[in-house]
Amino acid sequence: MTDIVLAADLGGTNLRIAAVGRDGTILERSKIATPRDSKPDRLFSALVEIANDCLKKCEKVNLTAIAIAVPATVDACKGILLDAPNLPELNGFGIVSALEEEMNVKVFLENDANAAAIGESWLGATKNFEDSIMVTLGTGVGGGIIIDGKILRGPDGTAGEIGHINVEPCGHPCGCGSHGCLEQYSSATAVVRMANELAAENPDSKLAGVDKLTSKHVYQLGLESDEDALAVFKKQGFYLGLALSGLINSLNPEAIVFGGGAAAAWDLFMPELLEQIGKRTYLTPAERVKLFRSELGDDAGILGAAHLGFENVDHN
Ligand SMILES: [Zn+2]
Repeated sequence: MTDIVLAADLGGTNLRIAAVGRDGTILERSKIATPRDSKPDRLFSALVEIANDCLKKCEKVNLTAIAIAVPATVDACKGILLDAPNLPELNGFGIVSALEEEMNVKVFLENDANAAAIGESWLGATKNFEDSIMVTLGTGVGGGIIIDGKILRGPDGTAGEIGHINVEPCGHPCGCGSHGCLEQYSSATAVVRMANELAAENPDSKLAGVDKLTSKHVYQLGLESDEDALAVFKKQGFYLGLALSGLINSLNPEAIVFGGGAAAAWDLFMPELLEQIGKRTYLTPAERVKLFRSELGDDAGILGAAHLGFENVDHN
């Protein structure tokens, strides 16, 4: 019998689950589009369904735990989702006790960016470092901070919310209630908004010629050296550079790893990001810190959740 954790990544678009072995081998996977409703019931039923589906596909396994990565701040001890801006129907939902009752196995909960940071630190880009930071650039900007090999959660579960570091005091309004958060300048959503703003100012811009602009369009134009698209990525890099400089000075990380779909534009935002780090950090921590792209891609969160599941079962 092989010990497995069923590790789920509960995203706003897809609900993915994988049966993961102790060494991080993914044995089986299941995936469905995330069902949306005003209540958590449909989403919960879908989670139970794909967990059973994935388990059925496995042969000779011993299910030790289920671990779920969610786009939300979580109370990991109580097993409750606190604030899920992209899946608000789950706010306050006690997913752990509900799933433990249904599946009759221990269940653990983690914020998705924290899970990705744990995954990269277990098997990915930051595996040789004790102190690292994960930045996820997607619909929003997520973060996970690992210090002395352990994820930093804070007493309220909100530690590592890098996306809500303020980088413009009177900037664009943010979903968290503040203004000018990093997320409003460096997420994939922000890339599209900033490109549309430029297009509105300059109707002759190639950005203005694209119907329903996406971050991929902006990236493609950037690769073609379009000046307006490059200006958008420069802005994205500038604000990331501001926030990361503060983190380099205050936390002295050995490594920073970038994941999420918008990290694909690495070549286009990195020059300005490095320029800002060069201007704004102490020399010694800036020379030490190494910057990487995610090695585990979409599986970082699933593998991190699986690792957390094994750790919790083994040490409790
Ligand atoms: Zn915010």
